[in-house]
Amino acid sequence: MARRRKTPFVAIVISVLAIAYFLFGGAIEKQNPFDDKSPAVTDESAMTVQFLDVGQGDATFITLPDGKTVLIDAANPGDGDELVKYLNKKAVEKIDYLVATHPHADHIGGMKEVIEGFSIGQIFAPKVATQDLPTSKTYENFLNAVKDKGLKLTRAQGGNILFEGEGYKAECLSPLYDEAEGLNNYSVVIKLHHGEDKFLFMGDAEEIAEKQILNGGLNPECDVLKCGHHGSSSSGAAEFLKAASPKFAVISCGADNSYGHPHKETLEAFENLEGFEKLYRTDKDKTVTAVSDGKGSIRFSVGGDSVVQGE
Ligand SMILES: [Zn+2]
Repeated sequence: MARRRKTPFVAIVISVLAIAYFLFGGAIEKQNPFDDKSPAVTDESAMTVQFLDVGQGDATFITLPDGKTVLIDAANPGDGDELVKYLNKKAVEKIDYLVATHPHADHIGGMKEVIEGFSIGQIFAPKVATQDLPTSKTYENFLNAVKDKGLKLTRAQGGNILFEGEGYKAECLSPLYDEAEGLNNYSVVIKLHHGEDKFLFMGDAEEIAEKQILNGGLNPECDVLKCGHHGSSSSGAAEFLKAASPKFAVISCGADNSYGHPHKETLEAFENLEGFEKLYRTDKDKTVTAVSDGKGSIRFSVGGDSVVQGE
């Protein structure tokens, strides 16, 4: 009997507490601990790769499964501030791994602002032979920003692991030699493994570098290919695409750009590639986001905010 009487009493206490909770909850100003700067993480072990719409240039922002960040290239000169603003909106405070694939303006243009604007971990770049070093103001600005911040460049070389953590590894496939034919072929090519999922970032590497990767016995096989050189026909030779055999590819280029990127040969090559599913391009799809769970399922979304528009 005693136990029976206790049950309604407990129920009343719970009800009173619940009512009090709601009353107090209503009295206090609601605080949402998540503002729109909080990055949306749907899966704790997910890796997010954003191919940013930076017009006719390159910038890819990656959030690794442990929350560390990677920026591969930094758009064109004059767009650095916009890029910094975009990343600020995402509440980025530190770029753990910054990669300057090669010293062309459409890849290192905004490096100065990025280096000045964030705490930076390591900076990877290819070692370019002295006779091929550019003399551009953009390159000078990049080097000065590195120096002024007391940082150093780390040489990215084919065959090395650039960085790794739990569940991921960034393998460098190129450049493999001390000298390359043209600055594009000095491009740092990165194969980023996340569990079973593999992303291949080509920079502006062309057919010559692709051949060296294959001849060097390195494996370009991937799920997602960030096409070399903005979808130019000078990259993505049939033999290389077959070896890479991506399901998805992304081309970073500006709308109506003066180079005619992506070239029609490139588009046809993907149409004819066995097992290929879908091509994305930043001139049409704007910022393209890929979320990898590391288990062979990569989800894409398009139409993300542009960092800069047009050519
Ligand atoms: Zn380029």
